[in-house]
Amino acid sequence: MKKTIEISKPNMGNEEIEMVVKVLKSGHLSQGALVKKFEKEIARYCGTKYAVAVNSGTAALHCALYGMGVKTDDEVITSPFTFVATTNAILMQKAKPIFCDINENTFNIDPSQIESKITKKTKIILPVSMYGHTYDVAEINAIAENNKLRVLEDAAQSIGAEYKKRKTGSLADVTSFSLYATKNITSGEGGAITTNDKAIANSCRSFRHHGQKENTIYEYISLGYNYRMTDIAAAIAIEQLKKIEKLTMIRRRNAKLLFQGLTNINGLILPVENPDFKDVYYQYTIRITKKFKTSREKFIKYLMSQGITARVYYPKPLHLHPHIEKLGYKKGDFPVAERLANEIVSIPVHPLVSEREINYIIEKIKMI
Ligand SMILES: *Cc1c(COP(=O)(O)O)cnc(C)c1O
Repeated sequence: MKKTIEISKPNMGNEEIEMVVKVLKSGHLSQGALVKKFEKEIARYCGTKYAVAVNSGTAALHCALYGMGVKTDDEVITSPFTFVATTNAILMQKAKPIFCDINENTFNIDPSQIESKITKKTKIILPVSMYGHTYDVAEINAIAENNKLRVLEDAAQSIGAEYKKRKTGSLADVTSFSLYATKNITSGEGGAITTNDKAIANSCRSFRHHGQKENTIYEYISLGYNYRMTDIAAAIAIEQLKKIEKLTMIRRRNAKLLFQGLTNINGLILPVENPDFKDVYYQYTIRITKKFKTSREKFIKYLMSQGITARVYYPKPLHLHPHIEKLGYKKGDFPVAERLANEIVSIPVHPLVSEREINYIIEKIKMI
């Protein structure tokens, strides 16, 4: 097999290309009718009243935090085991990330450790649904309710996922999505916020356009940013959203084949789906433990030499990066996140990986 199997690849068809050309010819490139249409479609898909489109997943998180009233010195309980954007968005609001260790089976924050982190300063809980597996909805939503807190889900990696047949986007008080090029659906760069709370949706809209007052122009109520999505990106996003169920189905088929093919290998731990959850496998992330025949680094090198891309998402938990560590964190604070960062490796699962290629990946791993 000569062609390298990539870890992710945007899935663009003629529909996206034709729509983009149409927008380019129309003369209206910036936020306009297509952004509105995308917002309507994603809200309908998620089952929420409102959606606000923005130009990245990071912008979506920042808008959501602002919209939920997170401000200077507020505390946000979140995961150290995620992409840096989750915590950076908290820092952008001058709030403090209060990390909570993760559960080694779900890669998401461990609900049993949340309550001990709640203080008078706690404003919201921000779970991340890693690799396409939704956070522990029942437990975390109940903790939030009992403590009069709200939940913001970082669903950058989990669009289309479900908990008890309900779609991500409508599980938390507010949800943020990313449409970055590697994500399950993409507009190159892009993002969105979904919620049933009208006031939060309106705040997000204001924040994405310099803090402009509702129903005015050139009247500003507070600091805001330029987080607007273009109609070019919205055109792509609308077409991508039409394909999401099919794309998710192929991801799930690939994940199932990987599970069947790689099960019962000593020292290699596979993701397991809980029956209440429908995972969307943004990544198929396995764990190479000490019992496995070789080290993770050798495993990755070997797969690469066989034309299979394997990557580590992410090699260092967030509390160990200098700008976050200086808030008062140190090595050893979150032992599960730290151990898993050394064990994880993601192997190709995206919809452009064929069944034949999946079988090739399984065969090569079994040869180790
Ligand atoms: C991709 C991602 C983001 C950021 O999204 P961008 O669109 O790249 O700004 C935030 N959180 C998580 C968990 C992500 O995977």
